[in-house]
Amino acid sequence: MKKCLIIGGGIAGLTSAAYLSKAGIQVEIIESSPKLGGRAYSFKDNITGTVIDNGQHILMGCYIETLKFIKMIKAEDNLIYQKKLCINFLKPQFQIFQLKSIRLFYPLNLILGLLRYNAIKFSERIKILSLLIKIPFYSVKKLQNLSVNDWLIKEKQSEDIRKAFWDIIAVGTLNCNTKDASSVYFLHILKKIFFSGHSSAKIILPAYGLTETFCNHAEKFIIDYDGTISFSENIISLKSNNDTITELVSSKRNISDFDYVISSVPIVELVKFFPGILKLKEILNFSSIVSVHIWLNDNNLEKTFFALIGSKVHWIFNHGSHLTIVISDANELINMSSDKIFSFVINEIEFYTPLKKETVKHYKVIKEKRATFIPSNSIQNERPDSKTRFKNFYLAGDWINTGLPSTIESAVLSGKIAAYEIISSSNRELF
Ligand SMILES: Cc1cc2nc3c(=O)[nH]c(=O)nc-3n(C[C@H](O)[C@H](O)[C@H](O)COP(=O)(O)OP(=O)(O)OC[C@H]3O[C@@H](n4cnc5c(N)ncnc54)[C@H](O)[C@@H]3O)c2cc1C
Repeated sequence: MKKCLIIGGGIAGLTSAAYLSKAGIQVEIIESSPKLGGRAYSFKDNITGTVIDNGQHILMGCYIETLKFIKMIKAEDNLIYQKKLCINFLKPQFQIFQLKSIRLFYPLNLILGLLRYNAIKFSERIKILSLLIKIPFYSVKKLQNLSVNDWLIKEKQSEDIRKAFWDIIAVGTLNCNTKDASSVYFLHILKKIFFSGHSSAKIILPAYGLTETFCNHAEKFIIDYDGTISFSENIISLKSNNDTITELVSSKRNISDFDYVISSVPIVELVKFFPGILKLKEILNFSSIVSVHIWLNDNNLEKTFFALIGSKVHWIFNHGSHLTIVISDANELINMSSDKIFSFVINEIEFYTPLKKETVKHYKVIKEKRATFIPSNSIQNERPDSKTRFKNFYLAGDWINTGLPSTIESAVLSGKIAAYEIISSSNRELF
């Protein structure tokens, strides 16, 4: 039986491990931390006993590879699927504007839903539509080197339209300022969300903590196929011989009994244990996400989640007595104290919703400094493929060349590609 070592037990590593296991290749995951999930995990808050995520994760109907993976590891019941697209946008003083698809066939359900989105004037909704209907035919060549912001201005999307519609989609999907984000990635995302089927724009939320939703099921799947997972073991260096990786040196041992190796760690970790593997002109830059979990004595919000128009606080997720507030593109806040972040957030919450600071029982701020890489124009052609110059060494991770921004979908796709390369090189059938 062939054996593959997988460095890193985030979503990309778990996906590679699951596909390889299913194809009859023995896997061993080596994970430096004591838990699986990488940048997507949950844990118990000591004070309240609530299981919380390191940051709310949203999936969408267009996450085709993620949904296939979730089905494969039998975790599809752990997701809450919207019956139809519905997003509650908020302006100050709790003015709610729904963007909701209506009971008609696709794509008319989305078009008419958009025409009813009255956070902006009717003439502005028509402008959104006039750009949206060009998207499937839009040539990438026309976009070279334009940021999302430049592109939207070129397409005559006013500031009001950008604030109440495009910026929310862009910051939510790309997690960075629209001036830094590449319009090519945004175009790609828009095609996936609005033009890949009637379910593609729907929002999907994990029903439980991320660890329970993804990791526990993936772990069981891998172990059922006789795979192994080694925790709290850090890969320190790799040894090679011409075109082959011959040995992995970890914090615990030297390992040489393998046929293949996949690295699924972020680029900054990869270059630590394997300097020189990549010829990236530009190392990726990163964008932060700050999440503020707030527990309340009294919460009269009824909707599951809200997107805030014109605020630096982007999303409110309502779990009843507990809210998760998400600030994307948060590099400006990342070095602020938790107290200051909370006070900024609660002021915004009071301004946008009927909730009052006095009802807060407890809060917890979680800062993810390197949450996602910035999908800029300059890195578009720099992201490496899964195959490397070593015949038994492959790359995975949301940052490799998947064409997608830094998301779970990119991580899953990268993991599947790496597995596929190995399976096809060992002449095995995929699936
Ligand atoms: C707060 C937050 C919110 C997010 N929201 C969303 C969202 O709503 N929707 C969405 O699609 N995406 C979202 N993302 C992005 C998503 O979480 C990531 O794209 C995805 O989890 C990346 O997975 P990965 O496997 O590529 O990398 P990682 O999750 O970084 O996994 C890499 C793993 O490798 C391990 N490792 C590192 N170095 C070593 C070493 N030397 N030896 C052994 N192991 C090592 C790490 O411990 C880690 O477990 C969010 C991210 C964050 C942080």
